[in-house]
Amino acid sequence: MQYHAFVIKYAEIGVKGKNRYIFEDALVKQLKRVLAKCDGSFNISKVAGRIYIEAEGFDFDETVSQLQTVFGVTGICPAVSIARDGENHLPDVDGVAKAVLDFIDGVYPNKNKTFKVKCRRVDKSYPVDSMEMAAELGARILNAFPEMKVDVHDPEILINVELREKLNIFSEIIPGPGGMPIGTAGKAMLLLSGGIDSPVAGYMVAKRGVEIEAVYFNAPPYTSEKAKQKVIDLAGVIAKYTGKVKLHVINFTDIQMYIYEKCPHDELTIIMRRYMMRIADILAQKSGSMGLITGESIGQVASQTMQSLMCTGEVVTDIPVYRPLIAFDKQDIVDISYKIDAYETSILPYEDCCTIFVAKHPVTKPRTDIIRKHEENLVEKIDELMQTALDTDEVIEITR
Ligand code: ATP
Ligand code: MG
Repeated sequence: MQYHAFVIKYAEIGVKGKNRYIFEDALVKQLKRVLAKCDGSFNISKVAGRIYIEAEGFDFDETVSQLQTVFGVTGICPAVSIARDGENHLPDVDGVAKAVLDFIDGVYPNKNKTFKVKCRRVDKSYPVDSMEMAAELGARILNAFPEMKVDVHDPEILINVELREKLNIFSEIIPGPGGMPIGTAGKAMLLLSGGIDSPVAGYMVAKRGVEIEAVYFNAPPYTSEKAKQKVIDLAGVIAKYTGKVKLHVINFTDIQMYIYEKCPHDELTIIMRRYMMRIADILAQKSGSMGLITGESIGQVASQTMQSLMCTGEVVTDIPVYRPLIAFDKQDIVDISYKIDAYETSILPYEDCCTIFVAKHPVTKPRTDIIRKHEENLVEKIDELMQTALDTDEVIEITR
């Protein structure tokens, strides 16, 4: 079957009035972005609360898999779309029937199926109404393909016929990712490590329409170039959905060594995390990000007990810390990681900076007052070290 159009479905709930235009315009912009990466030529139009893509010379699988990366899309319907004639008329009943029969014949070589025709006459000047059209098409289908049977309650094939500015025929709805189009919310700063969790956390917030900027704390020479490359690749996974990710690579080695030298080793991880949060907070405020994002989840490791979360969270006061995975089990996180194609990269073995100096028995119930007290040991040099880390920020722009 030669499809030559897609009808794009999106959820409209909650997007009314002026916001609806913002939503639709952002959606169209994102569709254009992904289609520019595909072979073929495409024409996107937004008509009467619908988005259509006319396509020529395209690869079906490639195009669909790109469209599936656009947040806001709930369904992708491969369609046959027939334009009006020179006098601005839609095809008459015979013309519609012929198009529908051709469509069924092309898409369903095996006719031993139940079906239902659903017709929508949006153009009220069309002389036949929806009910009549559906009944007529049903009769003609039964006549042309005697193996097919009507099932109005639970059909195997639901044939949608729309009489709009064009005649559209589609039956399959390929699921989209849902969510809100990128560009409809603000920006947030993701603490991105090389693990499984933080890329998933970034994906989930991005799915709500939020642009993602990211920061990675690197600890050369204790961590390798490969560990850094892994994080760049994971930022690329997110960029596939958002278009771009600006990644800050912060050299954290001197701060880490200084904490190691001055503070109790069982508190190293928690104190390190607090400094990561502080630096991410500064970067966020500089970039206009409206929150931090981490991949933390209650109880997953020692540094993610509720006491630890309280202790790391308290250093960020002016903006929220979003933890979309907070109540997720690891397996549920792995499932999403897998689905978004991050998993294979995340499980590569290269160490990130946290795993290297980790104590055998880190504190699991840090007391914030004690941690604050021990951080006083850092007073002599920490401001300068933080400033140097910020001054030597390596910014990598990742576009997809
Ligand atoms: P992940 O799978 O995301 O690495 P994790 O289960 O290993 O998480 P932790 O190492 O405790 O958990 O890290 C908790 C969160 O802190 C991470 O999800 C991430 O947001 C942030 N984080 C940890 N290490 C780094 C790092 N080197 N650079 C940037 N962010 C980091
Ligand atoms: Mg980690």
